[in-house]
Amino acid sequence: MNYIDKAMKRATETNCKEGANFFQALKEVLVSIEPLIQNHPEYEYHNIIERIISPNREIRFKVEWLDDKNNIRVNNGYRIQFNNALGPYKGGVRFHPSVNTDILKFLAFEQIFKNALTGLHIGGAKGGADFDPKGKSDNEIMKFCQSFMSAFYNSIGSDIDVLGGDMGVGEREVGYLFGQYKLLTNSYDSIITSKPLSLGGSLGRTEATGYGLIYFTETLLQDQNETLKGKICAVSGSGNVAIHAIEKLYDLGAIPVTCSDSRGAIHDSNGIDLALLKKIKLERRASLEYYALERKSAVYVKNDAFSNGSNYVWQIPCFAAFPCATQNELDIIGAQALISNNVKIIAEGANMPTVPEAIDLFVKNKIIFAPAKAANAGGVAVSVLEMGQNNSLNYFSFEEVDQKLQNIMSNIYHHMKKTCEEYDLGTDFIAAANILGFKRVANAMIAQGVL
Ligand code: NDP
Repeated sequence: MNYIDKAMKRATETNCKEGANFFQALKEVLVSIEPLIQNHPEYEYHNIIERIISPNREIRFKVEWLDDKNNIRVNNGYRIQFNNALGPYKGGVRFHPSVNTDILKFLAFEQIFKNALTGLHIGGAKGGADFDPKGKSDNEIMKFCQSFMSAFYNSIGSDIDVLGGDMGVGEREVGYLFGQYKLLTNSYDSIITSKPLSLGGSLGRTEATGYGLIYFTETLLQDQNETLKGKICAVSGSGNVAIHAIEKLYDLGAIPVTCSDSRGAIHDSNGIDLALLKKIKLERRASLEYYALERKSAVYVKNDAFSNGSNYVWQIPCFAAFPCATQNELDIIGAQALISNNVKIIAEGANMPTVPEAIDLFVKNKIIFAPAKAANAGGVAVSVLEMGQNNSLNYFSFEEVDQKLQNIMSNIYHHMKKTCEEYDLGTDFIAAANILGFKRVANAMIAQGVL
């Protein structure tokens, strides 16, 4: 039995049976690090694979809270502290009804290697709850955040485990989580990033994931004598990552023409009206249907009206496609449409948004593919800058943070390119990201001995 089969068997024995997302993430890493494993017998000697695929700690807790009608509500809360070989656990918190151990384990596993790729000293974790923020009042959101933090605050700390935002957890939620931690511990410990500026957040953190995605893509393209300038781009999602990706695309002279949410998709051939998009999604927290009502050039297609189940966004001809909504949102039908419309590059803003069969198709058709671990690492990188600013009480300007973000994204790309050359990977950036991230974590594990 080779190491991949052995690891998958071990994962099947020890993980929840509904672990499809985790297995998908695991298999991608295991398969792509083969050239590394062949050249480094010490990883087998130290049994690194079996050790790296099991989380150090999985915390599951009950979250009780009172809604506005004084009904007692109950949700499941989780924190997966996967690996802290490189530094304190670091990873976001997601509030979404789909949250379960499988989703969080896949996200935490990916986070280990993403964090390693930044070159910064942070481990990998992820947490969240199956709580749906949609339709909840501000008071209910606050109550839920307070109960969530009360249930597990004693498992985190600025040099133990640092939380952050993710789907359903923006500045508002981060502020409430932080406030409750402060109340319970009587400390202003920096246990969460993506904080509002008034609580010590970093300038540029809100924009970092979306901006970083576009910086990474432009660096990669420039290396191929290409640019995003003047190019039509398709973006999915309309949350934090998508909105700031669209903003940076405009800054670089590209033309983003799509966005989407959980109910439908927009194609705006005149280019997405960013101010209108922000008003609808960030201020009103409403459906994109309203975008089309206010903008004549926009076509709105409801998800269920696009009958084959795929996302309408991928049917729009484009030079570059940026899936920025959620996992497994770019399927084989979307990939076929993008390829037949001559797409040149796919860069993942969301975590694991592309199904494995679609990735295979892109690779077979020589479409450049920038995986999430590298392309969306800008968010966590600026979170670490936030931690540093909090600890030193020394704050950077927006321009300083933005410049550091550009440098980090460029470094990630150039290290991946070097890895491609070293292992003869061509432009297989998936393998390069996994090899580079795995190597850094594995070496740190070996250096620390068997714990
Ligand atoms: P937000 O909650 O701000 O936005 C998520 C967007 O995705 C919304 O437009 C939402 O629609 C849409 N969406 C959610 N579920 C689905 C679905 N099943 N089908 C179609 N659309 C859907 O999240 P973020 O922008 O912060 O995160 C997006 C992705 O990026 C996630 O994968 C996240 O893990 C990843 N990421 C985020 C980082 C960050 O800094 N925020 C850092 C690195 C990765 P609706 O408005 O209807 O809910």
